[in-house]
Amino acid sequence: MKQVLWFRRDLRINDSAILANAKDEVLPIFIFDKNILDKFSKDDKRVTFIYKSVLQLKEDLKEIGLDLAIFYSTPIEIFETLKNQGFDSILCSIDFDNYAKKRDEEINKIIPMQTFTDSFITHPNNCLKKDNTPYKVFTPYYKSLEFIWESESLVLFERNKNLKKIEFDYDFIPTLEDMGFNEQKLPEFLEKSADELINEFSLKISEYQEGRDFFYKNATSNLAVHLRFGLISPRELFNKIKKMRAIKSQKDFYIRELFWREFYNYILFHFPKSEFENLNDIKVNWNKDETIFQKWCEGNTGVPLIDAAMRYFNLTGTMHNRLRMIVSSYLTKNLLIDWKKGEEYFASKLLDYEASSNIGSWQWAASTGADAVPYFRVFNPYLQSAKFDKEAVFIKSVIPELKDVNAKLIHSENGVQSNIFLDYPKQLVSIEYSRNRAIEEFKRANNEKY
Ligand SMILES: Cc1cc2nc3c(=O)[nH]c(=O)nc-3n(C[C@H](O)[C@H](O)[C@H](O)COP(=O)(O)OP(=O)(O)OC[C@H]3O[C@@H](n4cnc5c(N)ncnc54)[C@H](O)[C@@H]3O)c2cc1C
Repeated sequence: MKQVLWFRRDLRINDSAILANAKDEVLPIFIFDKNILDKFSKDDKRVTFIYKSVLQLKEDLKEIGLDLAIFYSTPIEIFETLKNQGFDSILCSIDFDNYAKKRDEEINKIIPMQTFTDSFITHPNNCLKKDNTPYKVFTPYYKSLEFIWESESLVLFERNKNLKKIEFDYDFIPTLEDMGFNEQKLPEFLEKSADELINEFSLKISEYQEGRDFFYKNATSNLAVHLRFGLISPRELFNKIKKMRAIKSQKDFYIRELFWREFYNYILFHFPKSEFENLNDIKVNWNKDETIFQKWCEGNTGVPLIDAAMRYFNLTGTMHNRLRMIVSSYLTKNLLIDWKKGEEYFASKLLDYEASSNIGSWQWAASTGADAVPYFRVFNPYLQSAKFDKEAVFIKSVIPELKDVNAKLIHSENGVQSNIFLDYPKQLVSIEYSRNRAIEEFKRANNEKY
């Protein structure tokens, strides 16, 4: 048997389903997939992060007597070549998004694939209601998994220590430039390993629940990118959280967040149409004004908090969870622009971009999703900044022209614009008018559904 171990979004050797289930002679590989990379801009930060992580995986595999063959091609081309070289089985971690599903169907026809649930704690098929249909609401879904989140630890995969490295050309390593990319500066937290971030988080978990919404603080774990590319498995993270010295309610609160990640993966698996359509089937008359959308993307809406969040995002590829909630509410409600446009914009830049979490969260914000915020609840960005960034620390750090402006002015509608010495964009829409317009439109769309 000649097995290919195809690493994709599980770039680690600890708690690895494929290294546990592999046998005999193996060829670990990673493919820089041209189908995916060709769509990215050459300054995409994620490629720099993945590139570094793949090189680290190669070193880690060498330490356990294996190696990593790296390709820059399309999966179909690679597996057709490997089939001709006598490889007869592929082991990999399951991936649920649309491109991945189609890709895997094709590859399976070339060499049979064995897939494992390795990027999530649960397989979406293992949790259904009594009538065998999937949950659509988070809380009952989460409660039904109590036997998992109440356990003290989850079983991890043990690596098969008898694997043998197949002779192969392991020397080829394309450079980022060979693949059309320039090395990018990454946010500081991405220079750290998952273990370093977990250690740092262990010092602040006691204040997680209270602190996590204050976006000027660094109160969250910053682990989403590492989880996305499988540098830490969610099971191992779960176990490490359970072992931290903190009161149970704080640890439980964090673990509940990990299950939002599970839930959105579950929703995308059971309702794949949610990638393209409003999951609750309502038909909203979205505003198609491209200029307004571009102003949101650039951070030129005239609302200081929205502008700071978007400008920071454009610079760093990251955005705090509460800010994501506020800018997505503003785009889909106040500007009445289709959530799919915001989802796509986030997908083009977000370092922790995960199709399921992004789609699910955007549908949540737009009140079109499975377990969505009620449509009459619209975030007021001024009240949000007053509550979660009282001194406007975050806003001032991103928008230097507001450095000397009184925070109270920043938190009031048209406050900044009232200062004639400041060159700041006018508001695109009045908050109250646009809120009422959104509520009316969503009321109509919901009524028409029935
Ligand atoms: C519009 C919008 C889009 C989003 N897009 C993504 C995305 O593409 N990828 C992504 O990983 N998260 C997404 N999120 C969820 C959340 O914003 C990020 O997971 C979080 O900001 C990452 O920071 P952290 O690791 O410090 O989070 P922590 O607060 O430390 O949370 C720990 C982990 O729990 C998970 N998590 C926390 N909150 C959520 C949530 N609401 N939904 C799903 N998982 C969650 C993440 O894996 C996170 O790393 C989105 C949220 C919104 C509102």
